[in-house]
Amino acid sequence: GTAPLLGAADIRRLAAELDVRPTKTLGQNFVIDGNTIRRIVAAAHIDPQETVLEVGPGLGSLTLGLLDAAKHVVAVEIDPKLAAKLPDTAARLRPDAASRLDVVLADAMRVTELPQQPSALVANLPYNVAVPVVLHLLEHFPSLEHGLVMVQDEVADRLAAKPGSKIYGVPSVKAAWYSQMRKAGVIGMNVFWPAPKIASGLVQFTRHEPPETRATRKEVFAVIDAAFAQRRKTLRAALAGWAGSPAAAEDALRAANVDPSARGEVLDIHAFARIAEFKQPLMA
Ligand code: SAM
Repeated sequence: GTAPLLGAADIRRLAAELDVRPTKTLGQNFVIDGNTIRRIVAAAHIDPQETVLEVGPGLGSLTLGLLDAAKHVVAVEIDPKLAAKLPDTAARLRPDAASRLDVVLADAMRVTELPQQPSALVANLPYNVAVPVVLHLLEHFPSLEHGLVMVQDEVADRLAAKPGSKIYGVPSVKAAWYSQMRKAGVIGMNVFWPAPKIASGLVQFTRHEPPETRATRKEVFAVIDAAFAQRRKTLRAALAGWAGSPAAAEDALRAANVDPSARGEVLDIHAFARIAEFKQPLMA
């Protein structure tokens, strides 16, 4: 769209008006560059009929861009001052769109109900909680079919990492339970106020069916946590606690057709889902 977006002067003025001092704990780095917002919105491939979930709308930089692209926006913000101001900002800058915005004051890591079922997640996430927020939302809102999130660049690489890569780990495997994740770009530090110390990355995802397995999602995630808690160990050793003994771990791994002397970083989500099926109940 050609409607105005928030620039550096607008963000500073809004922050001063609200007496907001951006905090690190809440990951408050606001985007002050309209081109970056357009780039994020374009990369999110939003259909005009969609309801988009935004986490952490802050002063509204991305929210305005999303209102131009989507039918409806549900914005979940934890900071009461920011949540209270957002409807005003939307009404002032997008008078025609204000009725298409719901602002929810909540912690995105805990929210389980929303006023509308969103089909897309688009967010400039608070960096210290980015991975748990994404996993929580994918778990609790099955209507989320796709999305684009901005996170620390290194976290973007981790989320999108494939088995065998050095940075492949718990976030990569758990994210792969729900969706296909791919890196969609890098964003520099100077488009934010205050500027973070590290670059940001964009990750685009599309939901897929979870692996077919007799194990539950929680059981599969327990194997993943155990396998990566001791990254350097072989699976036989790393899963000994999980299985009850090294021998029981070896049995489960062989039954799942996984080499017990391999390490967790080479296994894809399907292999973890198979291993979880072969955990034997511990004898009383
Ligand atoms: N979307 C805005 C932008 O791009 O300018 C702000 C992004 S800023 C990186 C992160 C935002 O998430 C802040 O507004 C912060 O208050 C909010 N936030 C932090 N933790 C949160 C949580 N657990 N749930 C919801 N919002 C959170």
